[in-house]
Amino acid sequence: MIRENLNTVQEAIKKSCGAAGRQPGDVTLVAVSKTKPLSDLREAYEAGVRDFGENKVQELTDKIPELPSDIRWHMIGHLQRNKVKYIVGKVSMIHSVDSLRLAEEISREAVRKDTAVDILIEVNVAAEESKYGITPAEAPDLVEKIAALPGIKVCGLMTIAPYTENPEENRPFFRKLKQLSVDIQEKNIDNVNMSVLSMGMTGDYSVAIEEGATCVRVGTGIFGERQLH
Ligand SMILES: *Cc1c(COP(=O)(O)O)cnc(C)c1O
Repeated sequence: MIRENLNTVQEAIKKSCGAAGRQPGDVTLVAVSKTKPLSDLREAYEAGVRDFGENKVQELTDKIPELPSDIRWHMIGHLQRNKVKYIVGKVSMIHSVDSLRLAEEISREAVRKDTAVDILIEVNVAAEESKYGITPAEAPDLVEKIAALPGIKVCGLMTIAPYTENPEENRPFFRKLKQLSVDIQEKNIDNVNMSVLSMGMTGDYSVAIEEGATCVRVGTGIFGERQLH
């Protein structure tokens, strides 16, 4: 089932890229495997997936040693400063950086481990009370401050759009994040290259791609519904 789901998602990505005049290779599909057993991840791996997304540090660090080392792990969930040390050096990108204090901790840990960490800044474009992320207005200043830290590379922006039955409702939010990334890119800040736009999930990734997503995070569409826990 996972292989078929994956095919369906990949076809839909191609179609949206075609409609938007973009190349499918410009969009990275991150398979969001949170709460799913290793057997599911192995199945996706066998079907060619190399980018996996997890939202909890414990689950991430439990899964990493059990799976092949050529997997690129994406931390997509809220990250507490005291857990940064467990993932720096293990994940290929942290999508959920939403404060200078968190970035400083990542920087310290990266320097300690003599590595560099690719990060995205999480922006709450829809201004939802329940969501993490900074406001669009705060983004340029925060990007500039974080970019000055050693061991960190700001690669772009991420957002989690509201849950909706109608993906068109999220189009304005995706458009806004894209515009924000263009605005920040134009500032030519040292050590900043806004090349990644992580937006779009199972319900709305096609619209996100039309609006410029370079990275879509799809869980349910690949692995099926998650059990609540
Ligand atoms: C769970 C999750 C996803 C995937 O959600 P689906 O609707 O299952 O595709 C994407 N991004 C983040 C940050 C998530 O926590």
